[in-house]
Amino acid sequence: FGAGKMFLPQVVKSARVMKQAVAYLEPFMEAEKAGKPREQAGRILMATVKGDVHDIGKNIVGVVLQCNNYEVIDLGVMVPADRILDEAKAHNVDIIGLSGLITPSLDEMVFVAREMERRGFDIPLLIGGATTSRTHTAVKIEPAYRRGSTTYVVDASRAVGVVSGLLSKTERAKNEAATRDEYIRIREQYARGQEVKARTSIAEARKNPVAIDWTAPRPAAPSFKGVRAFEAWDLADLADHIDWTPFFASWELIGRYPHILEDEIVGEATKDLFKDAQAMLKRIVEEKWFTAKGVVGFWPANAVGDDIVVFEDEARTIEIARFHTLRQQIAKSNGKPNAALSDFVSPSGEDWIGAFAVTTGHGELEASKRFKDAGDDYSAIMAAALADRLAEAFAERLHKEVRTTLWGYAPDEAATIQDLIEEKYQGIRPAPGYPAQPDHTEKATLFRLLQAEANAGMALTESFAMTPPASVSGLYFGHPQSHYFGVGKIDRDQVEDYAARKGWDLETAERWLAPILNYDPGAAEREAAA
Ligand code: SAH
Repeated sequence: FGAGKMFLPQVVKSARVMKQAVAYLEPFMEAEKAGKPREQAGRILMATVKGDVHDIGKNIVGVVLQCNNYEVIDLGVMVPADRILDEAKAHNVDIIGLSGLITPSLDEMVFVAREMERRGFDIPLLIGGATTSRTHTAVKIEPAYRRGSTTYVVDASRAVGVVSGLLSKTERAKNEAATRDEYIRIREQYARGQEVKARTSIAEARKNPVAIDWTAPRPAAPSFKGVRAFEAWDLADLADHIDWTPFFASWELIGRYPHILEDEIVGEATKDLFKDAQAMLKRIVEEKWFTAKGVVGFWPANAVGDDIVVFEDEARTIEIARFHTLRQQIAKSNGKPNAALSDFVSPSGEDWIGAFAVTTGHGELEASKRFKDAGDDYSAIMAAALADRLAEAFAERLHKEVRTTLWGYAPDEAATIQDLIEEKYQGIRPAPGYPAQPDHTEKATLFRLLQAEANAGMALTESFAMTPPASVSGLYFGHPQSHYFGVGKIDRDQVEDYAARKGWDLETAERWLAPILNYDPGAAEREAAA
């Protein structure tokens, strides 16, 4: 697998046979060895950090390690630092592996690293998961944990190599030193990169918004005001709307569907995986393993500065919520705007905003657990990956319903499934935590307006991850000029302004916006202390 001759689904699938065989043989082996435990290559504790709920990647890595005779203690999701470190001590583990999907988890990982330092740990720390990176690991996590080594693991195919290199009596010191040296270089590179990026002040950036002619026609009022819930959307309809490319990516098979099925190198493994996925999808639909719950809402809205004010009434007198948006501060040239999402809503007159929250996660944990208990990790991971795909498909399908019917500004839209996947249609559905609005806390406003808990059984963790894990939410903008963009890095002037609008102190703002700060918030303090 590490040599690229075998692919992830094949490894995980073979693990199923191995696990079931071992489970069968174990009693005989124990009897023969008179109760002496089986020899393991090492013991690894894995956890998705506090506030985060996704664990497909972590589970995959766990299976791959088990295939290589490592004992894996998997603490699951939303695990506080205390518990991770207590369990690591109690089980005397050799390595701790942390996983996370959303940006607030980056900070939580720094906290775990600091706690490892404080409590005197010296075992290796591994970092992995969607928003983690070599740079973040080198710049933020490694410096917090000096007693032991910290290593970023880019994907499951590297996990075994990294772990065996860290547990080898002869190679460990050399490997740790090499990683330390590499991370020093990355920190230096990062520091140099920080100096050169020219930013515009927030006051100047506001003078350069996305220019929209508000006297020209724009989407009229939607077909209803307030929220509408969907208790059980047809799963077969959602299955038809799945975007398969990210499904293969979750199994580390990178390439566009359907061409990837014919790929010279990964084609065969991809076809096999696709066949298994189709078979399970059929059962999910027919046997209703999951329930697709969702909620949509529309409200009168106007932009006020970089905020979007949401009103109860069409007379626009009763404010019920305020979405806060962030503006690009990178220096722009040749007529390019400094965009903020608030630019897509009219500052006066009649305009509207929509929002949605959907989940296909009700039933997912039960399905995964059934498989896991039977020693079938392959199917457990497959069920979770398909639930994620169905949630994204639900968001796409509902968006179509919004454009053609519920908001109805594009009643004659004739988009094919491929057009939908390529987002060739009018309007966007940006999600808090994504590049156009990197602040995850905005989901709290979204969930309150939609009453997502009552209407779809959805909730938020303390880091604003959605549960069940297979969930998607976002805002709807209907204006033909609305488009996705990335806010990029922002300066302290905007952070101060944003903090005031959110009712936060500066430190709170800097914590939630940490991934996009164009400055080091601790620098002044550290200088003063020195
Ligand atoms: N077909 C894909 C869809 C998910 S990615 C799938 O099945 O996985 C596309 C979605 O991510 C968008 O609809 C939007 O909700 C979000 N998104 C992408 N780019 C964004 C950006 N720059 N800002 C905010 N949200 C974004």
